[in-house]
Amino acid sequence: AKESGKNNYQFYVAEMTTLVSERLALENDLRSALERGEFSLNYQPIADCRSGAIVGMEALLRWKHPERGMISPALFIPLAEETGYIIPIGEWVLRTACEQCRGWQKAGFPSLYVAVNLSSRQFHQKDLTASIHRILQETGLDPTRLGLEITEGLIMQQAEASVNTLRELKAMGIRISIDDFGTGYSSLSYLKRFPIDVLKIDQSFVRDIPKDEDDAAIASTIITMAHSLGLKVVAEGVETLEQLNFMREHHCDTMQGYYLSKPLPPDQFTALLKNGTRL
Ligand code: C2E
Ligand code: CA
Ligand code: CA
Ligand code: CA
Repeated sequence: AKESGKNNYQFYVAEMTTLVSERLALENDLRSALERGEFSLNYQPIADCRSGAIVGMEALLRWKHPERGMISPALFIPLAEETGYIIPIGEWVLRTACEQCRGWQKAGFPSLYVAVNLSSRQFHQKDLTASIHRILQETGLDPTRLGLEITEGLIMQQAEASVNTLRELKAMGIRISIDDFGTGYSSLSYLKRFPIDVLKIDQSFVRDIPKDEDDAAIASTIITMAHSLGLKVVAEGVETLEQLNFMREHHCDTMQGYYLSKPLPPDQFTALLKNGTRL
């Protein structure tokens, strides 16, 4: 027993060492990924629940590692956040997404908007509003055609500073969405205090609709509450016609999910815009 205990321990140390060195290697590769052009954006359409028309798209970051292939943002975004690389990467995302959106507007879809995810460190950086202002000017995208997605946890971290940043962004005309709504631990009172435009129902509440009655109750309550506060609602992770119909019956404004389309590279997104949707 003693022997195997020791072996287990050695195994554990070896495994930890591998994890740590893998992480270090990834961190190192992340540092040069931007200048090597390894990032790209995919776009997932957001459609009007009723008409099925594509009204906008969410920009989602992709990293193609030279040896390891595609690495999930769920893995590398936290790493970029901890190392601070998220600042230049996030700026690249914003610029690229605004440029692309402007391109599609010029190609015959003038009212499209683009939604960009902001991480905590990015949102709390000092010159965020100045940097966004510059990007909008340089790309020519109208501020009302840019949406920023943030989580409730992120704004609650520094509530006072967050209100100010949100007010500045709002004053520019930018729309603010609360991402993954319902999964945080904060009270709902911030919805009154913060200048928010959109709630995105987290996909964990959508996944088991219509089977799970609790999830259905939560989703319909979020929609009703949002509307009575004057907010719009996006349902995330809509994968089936039943789920879409549920959202329609409960007057959800817009939807996003595999039922309509997975996130697409720009050329495929262009094709989808031209062909229209089957909703
Ligand atoms: P998120 O913002 O909640 O994005 C939605 C995620 O759900 C995306 O995963 C999308 O591909 C996936 N999804 C969309 N529709 C469906 C569906 O019908 N079913 C299921 N099961 N999944 C669906 P993705 O692209 O892997 O992104 C994961 C997360 O990484 C994002 O979650 C976001 O938090 C983060 N992320 C992605 N791009 C960026 C970025 O540019 N900046 C920052 N800060 N975070 C990003
Ligand atoms: Ca998002
Ligand atoms: Ca989300
Ligand atoms: Ca998420």
